[in-house]
Amino acid sequence: MINNLGINTVHVSVDNLNELGLKRMEMCLGRLGSYQDRLIKMERDIQLAKENDIPFSIHLPMYIEEDFEGDYLDVFFLDPDPVKRELSFRMLEYNLQKMKEIKPDYCVLHFAGVYRKRRGPFEDFDDILTSAFERINALAHEYETKILLEYMGSNIRFSNYEDWIEKTRGLSNVGLITDTGHLYFASLIHAFDYMSALEALASASEAFHLWTTKGTGAYNDSEYYQKYHHIIPHVDQRRKDAWAFDTEVVFRRVAQENKPMIIEASTMFRGRAYFYQGIASIISILEDNITE
Ligand SMILES: [Zn+2]
Repeated sequence: MINNLGINTVHVSVDNLNELGLKRMEMCLGRLGSYQDRLIKMERDIQLAKENDIPFSIHLPMYIEEDFEGDYLDVFFLDPDPVKRELSFRMLEYNLQKMKEIKPDYCVLHFAGVYRKRRGPFEDFDDILTSAFERINALAHEYETKILLEYMGSNIRFSNYEDWIEKTRGLSNVGLITDTGHLYFASLIHAFDYMSALEALASASEAFHLWTTKGTGAYNDSEYYQKYHHIIPHVDQRRKDAWAFDTEVVFRRVAQENKPMIIEASTMFRGRAYFYQGIASIISILEDNITE
């Protein structure tokens, strides 16, 4: 295993990376403060990463047009409404134009949207799905970047991780990113085995997001998700204590891939001390293996 561990810059500043033992970063707008302030911070972080030769990725979208309605992380590539689909592609292209200059290692994109229930028929869904993959791949190719789609089980029409692996397999500029927390919620919603899914997705993915949660509810039904959002991974977290998974087992599996791993957690659960302990605890696993 190599140390390819990084962190999302929403809760950690670039200056702290070294002392935390982290090697890469992912910039994301986050949700704290005004859009303008968040964008300025993001641009400054990119600048700092470049000056210090720190590898980085970008969680899209970074640039949001004023008339975009809804939450900035919501996507409508697979919406029944063709106008909403078109707006999503327009926003993506607008961001990719900028990525040509920023040149991240890769971009992360939410893809399938949130459609928990089937509301009416959607006959041409399969065609729309196929053409969305092709179009995103063509855009990424045109703007010379790689887009990793984040696997989630929130779209009832496209929730099977095997299908995600299958659909992205042959694409030149589109790949997958597995998020340990969203995968857990998908395993609850669709009743599949977490570790088998992780096994299949780990080798098919090109990067990872790391966070965890507690309990057996998903999203709105999860007390811990509602209260603490993404919880920092810590090797003491075990399934027998109601954690989503044995963090050490999951982290060891993911780290075997030697691919970028981005901690995507807030400091809300037990504060900053636990946050830093969690980071140190997973780094010590990497170090064990490096010296073995
Ligand atoms: Zn994520």
